[in-house]
Amino acid sequence: MLTDRRPRVSIAHLPTPLEPLPRLTAHLGGPRLWVKRDDQTGLATGGNKTRKLEFLVAHALARGADTLITCGAAQSNHARQTAAAAAKFGLACTLVLRGEEPPQTQGNLLLDRWLGAKVVWTGDAPLVERLEEVTEELRADGRRPYVVPYGGSNPVGATGYVAAMEELLAQCARQGLHFDRIVLASSSGGTQAGLAVGARALGYAGRIMGISVDPKADALRHTLAGLATATAKHLELRPSFAPEDFAVEDGYLGGGYAVVGELEREAIHLVASTEGLLLDPVYTGRAFGGLLDLIRRGVFSPEERVLFWHTGGIAGLFARPDLV
Ligand SMILES: *Cc1c(COP(=O)(O)O)cnc(C)c1O
Repeated sequence: MLTDRRPRVSIAHLPTPLEPLPRLTAHLGGPRLWVKRDDQTGLATGGNKTRKLEFLVAHALARGADTLITCGAAQSNHARQTAAAAAKFGLACTLVLRGEEPPQTQGNLLLDRWLGAKVVWTGDAPLVERLEEVTEELRADGRRPYVVPYGGSNPVGATGYVAAMEELLAQCARQGLHFDRIVLASSSGGTQAGLAVGARALGYAGRIMGISVDPKADALRHTLAGLATATAKHLELRPSFAPEDFAVEDGYLGGGYAVVGELEREAIHLVASTEGLLLDPVYTGRAFGGLLDLIRRGVFSPEERVLFWHTGGIAGLFARPDLV
């Protein structure tokens, strides 16, 4: 395997299922839609960060860390999965979350509490600056913190998605399947960058399309190029990547990060009511909403096979009872 030489702990339930969406495909009149179920990675309601954490936690343990610290939004799926991974390996966990403590403890934040994480709110302070300060405070207290970057997106974390691409292609080979396109929600970039490195190394010929959840396309393409190049290097692979190597769609940013509009509501409702499959309000709802729009605009031919890579986030649904 491409990632064999990298230290890894076992957390995720792998391989995640690969499933067709026949009722939705019929409803839309094509393309032929499938889903890769990384919402089922198994760690405290699952999600894509679990694959990254298999490599990040191994790195933290190798360095003798006793605490994981990371940052994110109040409803961060990444923070919740980091808290769960810390608990599983007997590490303490500090989460630096943006803004003020909300009046209700629900969704991911509720799970952060059950998982025993300590939560620090940034107030008005910039997220990463506050993360650095709190890390220093932990050191001053005699702890050995390991900083998991925002979204788990550095070469160590993105390695999880290089392995995921290898997993998908092995599943496809076993089942005699091929996907013309892979569509996913993209934000801090580790997922899409890792998939791109795996795709290049293994000769996957289809196209990987990231639907941006918050960055503008230009900014995200630059992030992806840097991260994919660094990840390839981390794995002692040759390729380097340019921004033009990445397909990113930023037409669905709506009112901004975590502002849920009709696009997301319609997608969540349609997919749940035709397939019994849950999407989340912030990431996969937006990405699937974008995919539905692209389908309706005729971007795909009816015979094409399109794989939606479900990146999780289900716990976030329980923080938004107002959306139903
Ligand atoms: C973090 C997250 C993403 C985005 O993944 P990146 O690697 O940050 O681009 C997508 N979907 C869900 C549910 C997430 O939690």
